[in-house]
Amino acid sequence: MNTRYRIALIPGDGIGTEVLPPARAVLDAVGRRHGLSFGYDTFDWSCARYRAEGAMMPDDGLDRIRHHDAVLLGAVGWPGVPDHVSLWGLLIPIRRQFRQYVNLRPIKVLDGVPSPLAGATGDVDFVVVRENVEGEYSEIGGRLNRGFPDEMAVQEAVFTRPGVERVLDYAFTTARRRGGDLVSATKSNGIVHTMPFWDELVREAAGRFPEVAWRQEHIDALVAKVVLDPARFDVIVGSNLFGDILSDLAAAVAGSIGLAPAANLNPERAYPSMFEPVHGSAPDIAGQGTANPLGAIWSASMMLDHLGHPEAAAEVFDAFTSVLAMTGVRTRDLGGTASTEDFTRLILEAVTGSQ
Ligand code: ATP
Ligand code: MG
Repeated sequence: MNTRYRIALIPGDGIGTEVLPPARAVLDAVGRRHGLSFGYDTFDWSCARYRAEGAMMPDDGLDRIRHHDAVLLGAVGWPGVPDHVSLWGLLIPIRRQFRQYVNLRPIKVLDGVPSPLAGATGDVDFVVVRENVEGEYSEIGGRLNRGFPDEMAVQEAVFTRPGVERVLDYAFTTARRRGGDLVSATKSNGIVHTMPFWDELVREAAGRFPEVAWRQEHIDALVAKVVLDPARFDVIVGSNLFGDILSDLAAAVAGSIGLAPAANLNPERAYPSMFEPVHGSAPDIAGQGTANPLGAIWSASMMLDHLGHPEAAAEVFDAFTSVLAMTGVRTRDLGGTASTEDFTRLILEAVTGSQ
């Protein structure tokens, strides 16, 4: 039996356009082994489109991808185009309209990839669950008295009971499935309204998952521990801002931003979820064919998992980890000289040759 999926591809800018073709080739190769086929629709939504037409995507953009099974995104952003254009013109509308309220970042130190932390070993294996649609990144607030000595800015953070409960339930469910513990990032000693509310909801959620050990840590102490002792973590859950900072920090701990994957999930599957490497468009190396495709390939593996094909997802993961561990072949960000194409070819061989 053949299962067919429709995937919306948004390559975006810079190396985004260089890392999606490898991800697609890997999906097709592993799909053939598992009776899965993928139909792709490619959308040119990007900063390049913004410069030419004044918008990152067309007005009916979200409607055009609403019925796809998933979205695979390369990277958006380009010098000269302000970050808020690519964020608020594309990424944030997709995350919010499609209720992708979980941002999931697996952090692993892989064999053959040196971590900048001397002590970090293959035991580093945790996930950051970031609240992805509310919290500190709200549009509520404003500026007053511009140009006057008493000028000020106010920015409101929005935490809703259903919004926090659903991401906590996802995080506790993940901890239970992994057989591990959960750490909640907080700052209720300094942020006196929203963070105590978050803490209360964590305690309530913990009551629904009595089998999961948990604790809370203040974000400032927590980031230090992630650097000093990353192996002790299993699931870390945080608000939009804290989760954002933690997941970029953790990706750096794992060795290279070129490897790090991310999933923006609508766990109920009422809308498509979006999978994207953590890295940006990397203008400094764009067009050279040297980008590391692993962040995109790992993201595609997370997509397979989300679509209900964990064995296929694991085959992709095993294929690239074995290439890293067994061959000296590396892209430049990992200290090697291989091109994107050569590296991808080895991964494709490993996928095709796996049992
Ligand atoms: P953004 O604002 O979109 O997050 P950025 O400038 O903060 O972009 P990146 O575009 O991710 O960050 O680039 C950061 C550095 O990492 C650059 O030097 C870039 O060349 C390098 N880099 C990022 N991704 C890759 C990759 N896949 N392969 C190799 N190098 C990469
Ligand atoms: Mg950045």
